[in-house]
Amino acid sequence: ASKETGKNVYTFFDPRMNMVNSRKLELEQGLRKALEQQEFDLYYQPKIHIRTRKIIGMEALIRWQHPELGWVSPGEFIPIAEETGLIFSIGEWIMRMACMQNKAWQSQGYPPVRMAVNLSLRQFNQEHFVSGLAQILAETGLDARWLELEITESIAIRNEKYVINRLQAIKELGVSISIDDFGTGYSSLSYLKKFPIDTLKIDRAFVRDIAKSSDDTAIVQAIIAMAHSLKLRVLAEGVETKEQLAFLRRHACDEAQGYLFSRPVPADGMEKLLSRRIPLKGERAAKPSVSV
Ligand code: C2E
Ligand code: MG
Ligand code: MG
Ligand code: MG
Repeated sequence: ASKETGKNVYTFFDPRMNMVNSRKLELEQGLRKALEQQEFDLYYQPKIHIRTRKIIGMEALIRWQHPELGWVSPGEFIPIAEETGLIFSIGEWIMRMACMQNKAWQSQGYPPVRMAVNLSLRQFNQEHFVSGLAQILAETGLDARWLELEITESIAIRNEKYVINRLQAIKELGVSISIDDFGTGYSSLSYLKKFPIDTLKIDRAFVRDIAKSSDDTAIVQAIIAMAHSLKLRVLAEGVETKEQLAFLRRHACDEAQGYLFSRPVPADGMEKLLSRRIPLKGERAAKPSVSV
């Protein structure tokens, strides 16, 4: 920009802004075609029962390979999908795929585990969400007890009665509910005793430094104690070290998830994890375990 152009004009044409906007625009355009072009895939990350080290569930995480931009992280494109409303069709694809895959694994004889699906706020608020969910369960034949929905504290911003009714309807299908990224939502805690939820997932920002001496030690201890007194299960996200795991075990955290056990892996990778203990003929399917 030349000296003559005023400050405002310069700001308006800030080339960095242009780059941000054009990438966003490109992602948005790409997202419109991505389903049809089959550019999405689901990866899966195991959830571990800390005391037994057994895989008791997994979380489905969407992956997108853009034809020109390569891998785009869901942290970047999910907000765009929400903004544009594309999350409705993408979310439905994720739900159907996750249920279908879990049902297929059960039919193939893998030990049954719960599949968790992340739910965006707009999906949760969608008018016919619950009946749509029931339909996917019926279509795929997955027993609802093997499905869990991960929602964030942001759902608590809507009218309380509305949220409770909706959660209740989901629970009545037999589906479990967990609060994702717990502790980052800046919301009041009063919803915890009113909402019919099963699990708190402690955000990995708090888990990161628990092994060192820090305030996070106290926060995580407090969350675990509070969850248990409310009869909720508690899972620690982002567990990367043995020291973190030892701390969580000492403080009676129920479940853990993180790179220490496994990164999110494609379906065939999950099959390897699930078949670490293949049941012998006539033996009851035992849950596979992980060694760390
Ligand atoms: P989230 O649901 O809290 O998922 C956990 C994120 O942490 C995932 O990132 C996962 O790969 C990552 N992670 C797991 N273990 C570790 C660890 O030990 N260390 C570190 N540094 N990271 C770990 P990802 O897959 O990039 O997803 C980011 C976010 O995007 C998710 O956060 C979720 O909010 C959203 N997302 C991902 N998949 C879906 C989806 O299918 N639907 C919706 N609505 N949102 C999704
Ligand atoms: Mg999640
Ligand atoms: Mg999370
Ligand atoms: Mg997160």
